Amino acid sequence: MTTISIPTVFYNDHVARDLPGGKVVRVGRVYSEVDLDRASWLDLASDAALYDGFVGDDYRENRRVCDSATRTLARLKMFDPPAAAILGVCQRSYGHGQVCGEDVYDDTDGICAHCGTPINQEAR
Ligand SMILES: [Zn+2]
Repeated sequence: MTTISIPTVFYNDHVARDLPGGKVVRVGRVYSEVDLDRASWLDLASDAALYDGFVGDDYRENRRVCDSATRTLARLKMFDPPAAAILGVCQRSYGHGQVCGEDVYDDTDGICAHCGTPINQEAR
């Protein structure tokens, strides 16, 4: 988790669309402090980049949110995305008592990067 001050206009627009936005620590008129995990950090950054790229009528009709998205992107770029959290260890069996044993992170949606097995799948 990383706590970052994010422009309130874009942040509120982002979460109003039911997109992952972490946990709000403090709401301010201009900036809000939010706790972001890796998934919500990356989602906020890609959404802000989308709005930052609006041109012409798309920009003019959403000027307030687009300008806030540009400032959001600048804020996020001052930090590294939070590290992925380890969900567990891959238990895929190779037989003879051997298991994969790879750490599985939340940024791969719980799928082992080594063997492609979902972590919630019971070892056989
Ligand atoms: Zn594995």
